[in-house]
Amino acid sequence: MLKNTQLEDWDRENFFHPSTHLAEFARGNLAQRVITTASGCHIEDSAGNRLLDGFAGLYCVNVGYGRPEIADAIAAQARELAYYHAYVGHGTEASITLSKMILDRAPEGMSKVYFGLGGSDANETNVKLVWYYNNIRGLPEKKKIISRWRGYHGSGLMTGSLTGLEAFQKKFDLPLDRVLHTDAPYYFRRKDLDQSEADFVAQCVASLEELIAREGADTIAAFIGEPALGTGGLVPPPAGYWPAIQEVLDRHDILLIADEVVTGFGRLGSMFGSDHYGMRPDLITIAKGLTSAYAPLSGSIVGDKMWKVLEQGTDENGPIGHGWTYSAHPIGAAAGVANLKLIDELDLVSTAGKVGAYLKGALNDALGDHANVGDIRGEGLLCAVELVEDRDSRSFFDPKKGVGAAVNAALLSRGVISRAMPQGDILGFAPPFCLSESEADEIAGKLAEAVREVLG
Ligand code: PMP
Repeated sequence: MLKNTQLEDWDRENFFHPSTHLAEFARGNLAQRVITTASGCHIEDSAGNRLLDGFAGLYCVNVGYGRPEIADAIAAQARELAYYHAYVGHGTEASITLSKMILDRAPEGMSKVYFGLGGSDANETNVKLVWYYNNIRGLPEKKKIISRWRGYHGSGLMTGSLTGLEAFQKKFDLPLDRVLHTDAPYYFRRKDLDQSEADFVAQCVASLEELIAREGADTIAAFIGEPALGTGGLVPPPAGYWPAIQEVLDRHDILLIADEVVTGFGRLGSMFGSDHYGMRPDLITIAKGLTSAYAPLSGSIVGDKMWKVLEQGTDENGPIGHGWTYSAHPIGAAAGVANLKLIDELDLVSTAGKVGAYLKGALNDALGDHANVGDIRGEGLLCAVELVEDRDSRSFFDPKKGVGAAVNAALLSRGVISRAMPQGDILGFAPPFCLSESEADEIAGKLAEAVREVLG
């Protein structure tokens, strides 16, 4: 192993880190952490720290680190057949098997899986498929896509436009046109504190209806949403939100894309968030939990209604002009097959539901009474603690104070990783599904210490 100082120098000199303050990094003001090994829910770095990973990397290492079953499947695939493409009807045992395993688990009415590499490219695929679909149907004006403020759908050109967070658009000349944003179903941040949850849902629905009326339903192709908001704040939807939205979309012939990059394969304690919340999507985006991040792989699951039109389109226009070199990469597919088998064998989906409920209970016990804790929320192993300046008036801290980031740092100094979500003082927890109850207690206990250190 290279010396730490050597690696740190090379890192600063050569490595363009994503989502990083480049100037502060160059000045040496950002901590550099070289991760060396990991097992279960813990990662280790080259300075000898062992950290409890309360965010499973970027909420993706769902089965936990160091699973030999997946490592062995990857190695065996690399030895047998490291690569062949999937164009013009080619496939491999791993990619064909995985497509069947995904459809066996998917919500009703799904027809085929297109494989990509990550969540962003899968959503780019989805947008192209939606446009293709309406062109084949003879509806060339019906192309706009509605997303929600605080939604996260990637950082490509179109997906960065769909993402409803300013940081991903600023100075990149985004959003592109054809993208519209509507309200986030974020009840805790409602304007009128006296508003009931049912009235808040009605308001979300009414503002969607207004947007559709203003733009014209004949110009709107699809609505994209995460079953539970992820990067925008880790917010499960209020009761009845999805059925009410679905009714509006159906009435206006607007497709639903369920972005299940985070929620797919068990994070909410159900195999898919769409089933959990009563969504009937036409397209489902999957990535992260598909391989538990042991290899990069994503997918677009295409529903029956769209599939029929796509087939018809190729009869009229020839082969579909969309594909990546690494679509259905056999190594990613082998990781996916081994990962989904492990999830079944260890019953990890229901485990995520149970451990998630335990973690939320532990967070409530540790912090429920703190004057600056405004909300403790979650579904399955997707939990958040939102800090406020004043609980009664639910006023928020000035973002410049960086309270969430300070608590996150205080927690890290105690050996636990959370994620300071990008918009608001929100500490996010989305650990691997193998989190034990004592690890959940450790997260809650140390978070309480960190909150007290920063806020008293
Ligand atoms: N959709 C959602 C809901 C996500 O959370 C993410 C990534 N955090 C993406 C899409 C983009 O995935 P990727 O970073 O793999 O491109």
